[in-house]
Amino acid sequence: MEQLTRNAYGKINLGLDVLGVLPNGYHQVKMIMQTVDLHDEVTVTLVDATGITMDVTLEESSAVLEADENNLCVKAAKCLLSDANRTDVGVHISLIKRIPIAAGMAGGSTDAAAVFCGLNELLQLGYSQEELMKLAVTIGADVPYCIMGGTALSEGIGEELTKLSDAPAWTVLIGKPPIDVSTKYVYEHLDMAQNVIHPDIDGLQQALADGDLDRSADLMGNVLAQVTEPAYPVITEIKELMKQEGARVAMMTGSGPTVFGIFSKEAEARQAEAVLRASGLCQQVHVTRLTKGEGARE
Ligand code: ATP
Repeated sequence: MEQLTRNAYGKINLGLDVLGVLPNGYHQVKMIMQTVDLHDEVTVTLVDATGITMDVTLEESSAVLEADENNLCVKAAKCLLSDANRTDVGVHISLIKRIPIAAGMAGGSTDAAAVFCGLNELLQLGYSQEELMKLAVTIGADVPYCIMGGTALSEGIGEELTKLSDAPAWTVLIGKPPIDVSTKYVYEHLDMAQNVIHPDIDGLQQALADGDLDRSADLMGNVLAQVTEPAYPVITEIKELMKQEGARVAMMTGSGPTVFGIFSKEAEARQAEAVLRASGLCQQVHVTRLTKGEGARE
């Protein structure tokens, strides 16, 4: 087999808390990560010439993403081939991009994860999922989670992962406004903020395990929204619109600016999708659902 395609699934944070700053300056987090069905497609092909090349097809024309050595796909391929002493091979990576970029959905990390898993399989390198995850953390703190997928508790700086039972396949509406949010700005302002309200991640974990949408919705929360939302009121507008259209909960993922709403019925989410598109508040809108993803196929 000379070519292999993997879906690279995006994530949302059903819960996101920041516990403090570590002596090395990194933030200590406690998050519930959740894979969604919205995905990029990553194809890895073995080619004759040595080295790594790639091309990107953007499904959203307004986004920009270079297919160069800064792309996390290329970084992942370099990292794995060098670790496996297989720099003798040539690889071409084709990426079809749908996940909003720099938007709190780990789009780059999941593409990197797909390259790790895809090349491992294509070249029969024999890495276990755990070994791939250990290597992948050098590319980014979220990459190990993207290799694992599903519902997970993420602690430490995001690299300490505990697999949780899969959340139900609830329908999710995703909307990304046409703004860029600096992750650095959000964390710095959180450090200075007073009277921060922290979500109950333990309670949420239990409610999700029980498959209880109402209780989960009440407990979902993102501590970073207390910084990002006042700075970018469009995020609050999108949340309000989703709630008016029947979302059980609507909140921001990661440091933003993407907002997601969870609906108990897909028809309601489709109706809300139409209203959100017509509102002009978002650049990208998708209806998707929670999923456990593919995991690392070996
Ligand atoms: P996280 O949720 O992990 O904070 P994010 O969703 O905020 O991630 P990404 O979409 O992963 O952000 O993009 C972050 C940066 O990484 C962007 O500035 C982008 O240019 C760069 N990048 C490199 N490779 C990729 C890729 N394959 N897909 C998306 N972004 C990439």
